[in-house]
Amino acid sequence: MNLTVPYHLENYIGGNFIGPLSGAFLDNINPATAAVYGQVPNSNKKDIDAAVHAAQQAFAAWSTTANEDRFIVLNRIATLIEENADALALAETNDNGKPLWLSKRMDIKRAAENFRFFATAIMHFATESHAMEDKAINYTLRQPIGVVGCISPWNLPLYLFTWKIAPALAAGNCVVAKPSEVTPVTSFLLAKICKEAGVPDGVLNIVHGDGPGCGEAIVKHPGIKAISFTGSTRAGERIASIAAPMFKKLSLELGGKNPAIIFADCDWQKMMTETIRSSFTNQGQICLCSSRLLIEKTIYEKFKAEFVAQVQQLTVGDPLEEGTKQGAVVSKLHFDKVMNCIQAAKEEGGTILCGGNAVTLSGRCADGYFIEPTVIENLGPQCKTNMEEIFGPVVTLQPFETADEALQLANATGYGLAATIWSQDISKTNRVAAKLQSGIIWVNCWLVRDLRTPFGGMKNSGVGREGGWEALRFFTEQKNICIQF
Ligand code: NAD
Repeated sequence: MNLTVPYHLENYIGGNFIGPLSGAFLDNINPATAAVYGQVPNSNKKDIDAAVHAAQQAFAAWSTTANEDRFIVLNRIATLIEENADALALAETNDNGKPLWLSKRMDIKRAAENFRFFATAIMHFATESHAMEDKAINYTLRQPIGVVGCISPWNLPLYLFTWKIAPALAAGNCVVAKPSEVTPVTSFLLAKICKEAGVPDGVLNIVHGDGPGCGEAIVKHPGIKAISFTGSTRAGERIASIAAPMFKKLSLELGGKNPAIIFADCDWQKMMTETIRSSFTNQGQICLCSSRLLIEKTIYEKFKAEFVAQVQQLTVGDPLEEGTKQGAVVSKLHFDKVMNCIQAAKEEGGTILCGGNAVTLSGRCADGYFIEPTVIENLGPQCKTNMEEIFGPVVTLQPFETADEALQLANATGYGLAATIWSQDISKTNRVAAKLQSGIIWVNCWLVRDLRTPFGGMKNSGVGREGGWEALRFFTEQKNICIQF
């Protein structure tokens, strides 16, 4: 396929590629070079009205298309993503700043898997029946909702965009989707792929723009019956305040401040390798990254010395180079936010063990937004640094003496997305896991993903779960039918 990226991106509405009706665009900036390299439609209510209209027109046919036929189309999208993985990975890296090898091995691979997973899942999706002995039988239909809205963030752009769109389409809905305005290109290319794969016009509409203008127009539109949102807790709160009084179905996947609990009896080498990965993959910009490392006191000094030595080996460099471990953070705005958080940590009394500075590279990346991977200690659980999400290459270390103290520290924030436990004592890991206030817990591993499992957070990290049947249940409306004999 020809997946060249035009300077002016376009919306995909009713099967057509069109500019924003207002003519307004935003700059698209490559964070590794700071160069403006494209323009993104800054769409508004009028574009959303057109997208919803197109989706409504397409709904009757798509919602009654046989599961087998939806499977064929979605499976073809997965294959086309795989066939065009190189072009998509390059686009992702240019938009986001992450190393190219990571875009290929993680983001684009998973985008294809999302479509393949839900293409096959819909073939096996079944509903319940409840028999009342010899009196009556109930059966439950799960029907597509109608037009649904999907809004996604910049950190795993195509990966998270497709994680929503694939189940929504598989379940027979028509979709109005908005990627992050900071990383729009792979979703623009996905529109081309979906057209080629045979998604009927109007079934999927991809509209670009910022949060307050374009995103809120999706949330407010009375024709959109459900909203699946991934992003910050702040935006999630705003979206809930609009959607709840309209009685929309709502799935919110929000921020995190994830603890890794490291006991003295862990498998040391594996723990060390995986904790480096869980702390700094994607420059720490994964909602599941560990940002608070809680370490049993007896191994604290040993851990600190070895961890810091290994973090200092993480090469910050041009995302296009194979040897780069840490690319650019996503934008100037985010760069400033992370640097301010590091400054605030110093003011709170934190000791910077390594990192803490911006990195200036030479050549094409001389103006890019790079930050040294940073490790901080000497901060208590209640300080801002340990309570608020930074979402960058910054972790803190805190010692603990008992499992109860580790739990207190782990549960001390308002968030509850993910946690990691490192210990060879399987009873202890199970006891701790049961008491952690987190929706996702990894024991002796990190980011091992089975797409069938419920995915999401508790407390301020969100409402509802994605993944597996949970996603197909979210994107369908239940109806119980009771027949008396
Ligand atoms: P963000 O909330 O600023 O934006 C996310 C998306 O929502 C973007 O498309 C944005 O344009 C849109 N948006 C913003 N305000 C909106 C509004 N008022 N109405 C409708 N749409 C709006 O988040 P971000 O900075 O793009 O992403 C980083 C955040 O996402 C972090 O907090 C991270 O933890 C979170 N995140 C969570 C998960 C998860 O699964 N829980 C996964 C990835 C990222």
